Amino acid sequence: MSRYKDSVCRHCRRENLKLYLKGDRCYSDKCAFDRRSYPPGEHGERRGRKISDYGIQLREKQKVKRMYGLSEKQFHLFFERAEGQRGVTGTNLLVLLECRLDNVVYRLGFANSRTQGRQFVLHNHFLVNGKKVNIPSFLVKRGDSVEVKEKSKKIAAISDSLEAVVRRGIPQWLELEKEKHKGVVTGFPVREDLTMPIQEQLVVELYSK
Ligand code: SF4
Repeated sequence: MSRYKDSVCRHCRRENLKLYLKGDRCYSDKCAFDRRSYPPGEHGERRGRKISDYGIQLREKQKVKRMYGLSEKQFHLFFERAEGQRGVTGTNLLVLLECRLDNVVYRLGFANSRTQGRQFVLHNHFLVNGKKVNIPSFLVKRGDSVEVKEKSKKIAAISDSLEAVVRRGIPQWLELEKEKHKGVVTGFPVREDLTMPIQEQLVVELYSK
């Protein structure tokens, strides 16, 4: 898989939205979007260009994909899975993305971004229901516990993130036992839990072409 090597802040500027991809920096006055909230590139400051329906759908898909830090292929696989489920495909897609282990690690405050959450999972710092899981795309379900491995509890980046979680808040479908470095999936994410401005039907329209 080819890796994106440029600054991820360009994604926020491109999507005209803070995607919170860089942890604490996103809340500081160093945020690139707050400083330059126009698209990157030579003609970035040129505004008011007409954008086609396809362009709008494409931007929405890129936005969600970048928010969750997935490649095109990974994102499309999630879409196909959502499509195969009962219910509204767009909502299914968002719920599936929310249930990814790297996202849950971030949502519970063990990491300050989804990227960091993915790294922590890959580096074997987490147990799900007491068993080692190092697959960021692992999908949690109601009743699962997600906890930091005993040896990893002393990692400063994890403790620091936990201290900062108050700022973001924890969604109602997760419960954090901060002292134990443990979280429990108490429910199921619903559309209302996702407060970021996402128009998932545009993603469905794009892939339905
Ligand atoms: Fe986006 Fe965060 Fe960079 Fe700001 S600091 S532009 S929110 S990734």
